[in-house]
Amino acid sequence: MTPILPPAWLGVLGGGQLGLFFVVAARQMGYRVAVLDPERDSPAGAFANRHFAAPYDDRVALQELAGLCAAVTTEFENVPAESLAFLAERIRVAPSAQCVATAQDRIREKAAVRTIGLPVGPYAPVEREADFARADLYPGVLKTARFGYDGKGQARVESQAEAVRAWEAMRRVPCVLEKRLDLEREVSAIVARGADGDTRVFSMAENRHRHGILDVSTVPARISSALADEARTFAARLASGLSYEGVLGVEFFVVGGRLLVNEMAPRPHNSGHYTMDACAASQYAQQVRALCGLPLGDERLLSPATMVNLLGDLWGSTEPAWRDVLAEARAHLYLYGKSSARPGRKMGHFTVLDADPARALETALALRAKLGIRD
Ligand code: ADP
Ligand code: MG
Repeated sequence: MTPILPPAWLGVLGGGQLGLFFVVAARQMGYRVAVLDPERDSPAGAFANRHFAAPYDDRVALQELAGLCAAVTTEFENVPAESLAFLAERIRVAPSAQCVATAQDRIREKAAVRTIGLPVGPYAPVEREADFARADLYPGVLKTARFGYDGKGQARVESQAEAVRAWEAMRRVPCVLEKRLDLEREVSAIVARGADGDTRVFSMAENRHRHGILDVSTVPARISSALADEARTFAARLASGLSYEGVLGVEFFVVGGRLLVNEMAPRPHNSGHYTMDACAASQYAQQVRALCGLPLGDERLLSPATMVNLLGDLWGSTEPAWRDVLAEARAHLYLYGKSSARPGRKMGHFTVLDADPARALETALALRAKLGIRD
């Protein structure tokens, strides 16, 4: 494709923090950016040149966005795939509506991962009561096929009877039932694939979750280089197999020393925030480059890093005391400017860089404790 060059307009669907960092990366490079997000005050909207405050399926707003922009991407996997298809009839859209539709439905997602020949844990799609008769999948985790995130739309179930009850509470929507696995570690790969098919994978991140939400990411992941290479190869195969264009986050479980694909996100990933400070080109710069048909940037890790998420739980009646984080020269603080701090809501993060990975982790955990984040 002919590269899209600054000062062209780019669009992004979704106004959260991932959109915010896309907007910043694009504007730094001289592009102008429009955000579509129904919320009037969104983190990305505040940094964009234009903000369309309309629903994601608003045809008038989509038409206007298509008239203004040379290309559109997404930061949010639950945008209606039809909206991306509508835009794609008019302008460049990456990732494609089809890739986003695959990633936003766990049934389609797991089938696609298997078709490409990558390993997934034992599971079954469940759409009717008879589908729960799978003794091999208990104890299990029941997950809604659509609209789940940060552990929402999931239930841990011990037995078939409990699973059926949980499914009824979910109003019998299509789900996947997964066997609950004994996770040694969780790791993620972030892959960028350009319009020319060039594929680059960032260093592996190791992720610790708390209540189903990412808490701490450490890079490089503490896994063997053979396993890290395999995970990065799997991520690249997934992106190529899907003919994906853009940035794709791939979550893996490590079970019994082997990798299983957990899920993918058709956008930059929370565990890749570290790339803004620790890599030659960030995942957001890669997103701009892939969208615009430019050669991808250099994904090299320049320093080990640990990232800590700052959730709304931390905000009481007053603002958390940022003094200690800001006093640490090796820490980089990001606050997203969200107006209300609900528990579990991602409000900010910080990343600590240190040539010694153990010290990066230790410093980050000490700052995390000073802020009052408990395990
Ligand atoms: P999402 O991130 O979309 O909420 P995930 O499928 O990634 O959904 O699940 C969130 C977290 O729950 C995972 O990162 C992992 O810690 C835990 N989890 C999910 N599935 C399983 C499983 N089958 N066995 C054990 N733990 C799981
Ligand atoms: Mg996940």
